[in-house]
Amino acid sequence: MAESEGIVKYVTDYTSAAALSAEEIAELNAWRRILYLAQLVGQSPERYMGYGFGNVSRRLEPGPAPVTQRSFVITGTQTGNLTHLDPDAYTMVMECYPAENRLVAQGPVKPSSESLTHGAVYDQDPEIMWVFHAHSPEIWRNADALEIPVTAADVPYGSPEMAAEVDRLFRETPLLERRIFSMGGHEDGIVSFGRTAEEAGDVLLNTLAAALALSD
Ligand SMILES: [Zn+2]
Repeated sequence: MAESEGIVKYVTDYTSAAALSAEEIAELNAWRRILYLAQLVGQSPERYMGYGFGNVSRRLEPGPAPVTQRSFVITGTQTGNLTHLDPDAYTMVMECYPAENRLVAQGPVKPSSESLTHGAVYDQDPEIMWVFHAHSPEIWRNADALEIPVTAADVPYGSPEMAAEVDRLFRETPLLERRIFSMGGHEDGIVSFGRTAEEAGDVLLNTLAAALALSD
């Protein structure tokens, strides 16, 4: 029994529903395209055993809402191989309970368990409207040199422990101003966020540039 102790199963209360309109996802889709072209989001036989990696989200409604109720739209599970996404590739997370590993979603596709980390970030501050989860070996390996906060190496993604780590980083580091962190226990995993897509995208791309400069 010891091996199952502490493992909380990821539960999705998922209902199939219509996609959002192309207009509603246009800005998110544009940034997803940029991250795809930079290979920060995608799918490759040479990376992570061929699984899709990275996902982008934005909150559906601005302004204050109780934690766990900050609904957002996010790329669906295993859409990384697609160059261009249409609205059917996006789904809505209506409620998110990172500490319980549970979420309520509706849309044309299921969300991945990484959605829990997006929810954990939205829970930190009602002004956070955009979250990008990228995979960058360059940033990940240089996280300390780049002085970006890092979650504990023994904490996997999509776990209640990851949500607790996100919470810790917001309390113990200047993460709210820094807007980017590395996931120490999730190979190459990086999360950026902002009040606007530009804030979330700029910090990610600027940090990649700094990492590439260090690597050269
Ligand atoms: Zn990931």
